[in-house]
Amino acid sequence: MSATKKPLTQHIRTDGEMIGFQEYIQLGGYQAVQKAKQMAPQDVTKLVSDSGLGGRGGAGFSTGFKMSAVPMGDDASKTKYLICNADEMEPGTFKDRLLLECHPHQLIEGMMISAHAIQATVAYIFVRGEYKLSIQRLEHAVQEAYAQGLLGQGLEMYVHASAGRYICGEETALLNALEGKRATPRAKPPFPQTVGLWGKPTLVNNVETLSCLPHIVNHGAEWFKSLSKTADAGTKLYGLSGHVNNPGLFELPMGTTARELIEVHAGGMKDGRKFRALLPGGASTDFWLEDKLDVPMDFSSTAKIRTRMGTGTIIILDDKTCPVGMLLSLERFFKQESCGWCTPCRDGLTWVEKILQAFENGEGREEDIEQLERHARLLGPGSTFCALAPGAASPLGTGMKYFKEEFLKHIDEKRCPYANHLH
Ligand code: SF4
Repeated sequence: MSATKKPLTQHIRTDGEMIGFQEYIQLGGYQAVQKAKQMAPQDVTKLVSDSGLGGRGGAGFSTGFKMSAVPMGDDASKTKYLICNADEMEPGTFKDRLLLECHPHQLIEGMMISAHAIQATVAYIFVRGEYKLSIQRLEHAVQEAYAQGLLGQGLEMYVHASAGRYICGEETALLNALEGKRATPRAKPPFPQTVGLWGKPTLVNNVETLSCLPHIVNHGAEWFKSLSKTADAGTKLYGLSGHVNNPGLFELPMGTTARELIEVHAGGMKDGRKFRALLPGGASTDFWLEDKLDVPMDFSSTAKIRTRMGTGTIIILDDKTCPVGMLLSLERFFKQESCGWCTPCRDGLTWVEKILQAFENGEGREEDIEQLERHARLLGPGSTFCALAPGAASPLGTGMKYFKEEFLKHIDEKRCPYANHLH
């Protein structure tokens, strides 16, 4: 790809250093927000809608449509909030971290554009507490923007470090956390765009989503659409972890296949290991087998085959890693991070972890397989208050479907058959 087709990570230095204010200005930074401010707020929203930008937090929902749901004109509240959701915490997902650590001014400029579109006067960057370097660099960049007079004249911006729960990444739990309350999700509707932070209209967007905005304003909606291989617009930050030769993060046209990601960009499987399965978008997506490797990794192509790309950060499972052990570590994470509000999630995930641990200890029974399948159904969409439980059900349900023989092997051998392998 040419450099102009790399909007988000363009110019990021391989040494992992941050692009400071002066360097960002030399690269043309903060010109897009000047351009956006010459436009009527509704025209900025229309431009974002026309660009086809879908939310990069995993849902793919139209960013322009979400913006347009914030009341404007006579109906508008005087106080409106913009929040950047930088609470990236799911196992295997590390795409926003690069943008936060290396390109904070790009994010700040994207937020300024979004704040203009919805006429927000206060903006928060809600960032994962463990992302210490991100917090340090964001605070520095925000101070630089204040010192240059870019912030503080109609828009105040704050960096807020999360106290450290995965559920805070759910946008309504995030609002409760910011208000100093227990971080449980809120009922929707009303949606945050109308009743959000402290009851005021609030727009919540992901880091990667907001980082696209300066480039859409600079180059236009058609340009953004042309970057993609498929109907979903733009580029995408894809990540790969697991036993591949070159794990990492790659900005590529939306719709790149998992096969290309693994074989070309990640350099293929490592140490003679064979591909067994993958999770396409962090821990809360379905397992994919070889038959899905040529599906375009985008929101609509995956929805057509009733699965999800999620965040596009792939976790590879190879033939020498225990699928039961992998499921145990995923489900343990979800159990620990359940907010405890709904019974299937709070109690169900506790049982799921216990049963999976029993298999790993060589104490699994055939009837336990049925129990795990039952729990995967009980945790599925519609039975809990938020998406954490269905997220936990995705790898569990597909794992039970694809790896049943592995469970039976654990029963037959009365131990984990992979116990002697170095993972
Ligand atoms: Fe809390 Fe889990 Fe219910 Fe979500 S599904 S509200 S995390 S208990």
